Amino acid sequence: MHRTLRPFELLEPESIPEALQYLSKCGAKGKVLAGGLDLIQKMRRWQIKQPACLVSIRRIPGLNYIRGGNGRGLRIGPMTSIRALELSPEVKEGFPVLWEAAHQIASIQVKTMGTVIGNLCVATPASDIAPVLYILGAKLRIAGPDGKKTVAIEDFFIPVCQNILEPDQFVTELTIPAIPAGSGAAFMKLAHTKACIARVNAAAMVTMADGVCKQARIALGAVAPTVIRASKTEKLLRGKKLDKALIAEAGELAAKESKPISDLRGSAWYRKEMVAVLVRRALELAAERAK
Ligand SMILES: Cc1cc2nc3c(=O)[nH]c(=O)nc-3n(C[C@H](O)[C@H](O)[C@H](O)COP(=O)(O)OP(=O)(O)OC[C@H]3O[C@@H](n4cnc5c(N)ncnc54)[C@H](O)[C@@H]3O)c2cc1C
Repeated sequence: MHRTLRPFELLEPESIPEALQYLSKCGAKGKVLAGGLDLIQKMRRWQIKQPACLVSIRRIPGLNYIRGGNGRGLRIGPMTSIRALELSPEVKEGFPVLWEAAHQIASIQVKTMGTVIGNLCVATPASDIAPVLYILGAKLRIAGPDGKKTVAIEDFFIPVCQNILEPDQFVTELTIPAIPAGSGAAFMKLAHTKACIARVNAAAMVTMADGVCKQARIALGAVAPTVIRASKTEKLLRGKKLDKALIAEAGELAAKESKPISDLRGSAWYRKEMVAVLVRRALELAAERAK
């Protein structure tokens, strides 16, 4: 239900130190505003405690960037939209699995307003971007009153739909390391329509040497309180040839590792069945791409 927004103070810092000062001043009553797609909607629906002040990072120059690619890692700024990710040649050529995830997100409108880092800060287990970042080993740079720190993406989320950020901290950058040689990766999403969020999603990356899987990374979305790694399945694949039977077994094991709930998007039973299918397909494609 839409209700009237409660009055709030809009603060528009022009530098990161100024933003940090405002966030410290606002404390638990403040919120960072990036694209506003998620935050304003939740405020309108009174789904969150109404913030007394919003610290917009939109006027801070130089926060909208994608740097790197061409065999190197990527650095993505906190005002970079999902659409910019989708349109970036560096992403499409160097990190096609990330492009695949961005491409499958809802609509152009959503992708144009929503930022990549905002998508992560929302911390929904159904994010399409987070599973891909899990398999790529991404990290987040966080700024706060005590300076900057870096955390692995897998340590950023807390069940359910929360992240580790303190009210006076914000994410200043997403970093993604270069993809190891001999690797192939794929992302699969199952949703009711193209405009819907995932019922289940899965990302897989395999690194091959001499026809054997040296390393496998598998992440599952919308089937646990946070995005999760299917670590037992990864272990099953390590050191083996990825034939059809092993990949099918991996799909079944990943389904066992998932912990979905039943909700309006699907039953827990259906989601587990679909994990097996999506992981199998993602692994088949990843192995093909690794060639
Ligand atoms: C109709 C619709 C369809 C969608 N479909 C999909 C989909 O298919 N797949 C998918 O993965 N997602 C989907 N989303 C989610 C969408 O990608 C996110 O809502 C969006 O990316 C959030 O980014 P934002 O910049 O608008 O964040 P905001 O709304 O500005 O912020 C969201 C939250 O993150 C915090 N925040 C934002 N940036 C920072 C930062 N730098 N540091 C600290 N905190 C920060 C804010 O304080 C707030 O709590 C959909 C959303 C909508 C509304």
